[in-house]
Amino acid sequence: MAIRDITLLGDPVLRRRAEPVTEVDDSVRELAQDMMDTMVEAPGIGLAAPQVGVSLRMITLNLEEASGAIINPVVARSSRDEESDLEACLSIPDVQGLVRRPSSVVVKGLDMDGRKVVLKAEGLLARCLQHEIDHLDGAVFLDRVTDPKVKVFHRVEDPDADEETYESELVTIAEVHRRFEELHAAKTAAPGA
Ligand code: ZN
Repeated sequence: MAIRDITLLGDPVLRRRAEPVTEVDDSVRELAQDMMDTMVEAPGIGLAAPQVGVSLRMITLNLEEASGAIINPVVARSSRDEESDLEACLSIPDVQGLVRRPSSVVVKGLDMDGRKVVLKAEGLLARCLQHEIDHLDGAVFLDRVTDPKVKVFHRVEDPDADEETYESELVTIAEVHRRFEELHAAKTAAPGA
């Protein structure tokens, strides 16, 4: 079991178009296992390889309907019907925004043994698949948010509270990008910090 660091918005790897996996070998299976461990630990319902800094076309899912890795996933078909719902991303922590997407999709790819798989998905699974496959093309959900502003959550320090308390503010997408760019610049300026 290996937990990898999750890359955050501002890291160029999240904006790169990921390369196809050419062979499903042990190194690919190890990456898939690490991604699963990292996703479950986070916790998250989906993860794409660029989110652990690897520019390969591979995603993992952690939902009741589907759990495991899909290699070289493609959206083969999407419904004309669309649905809006809130999305969030492990690479853009504490940010939530409304995204409109096809309500059902058919996704094709390979499993961990290199066998072809076809997923017919609707609801949360369809949304999750599209969100993760976007990551492989260098896109994040913020690129697709329909409102001009998104919600950013902040934890409130309250020693008397039994539960964790959060407050939220509405922030423009440009401002979210600016904050994460600043964070990334600070992190790269102080390696190991
Ligand atoms: Zn994401």
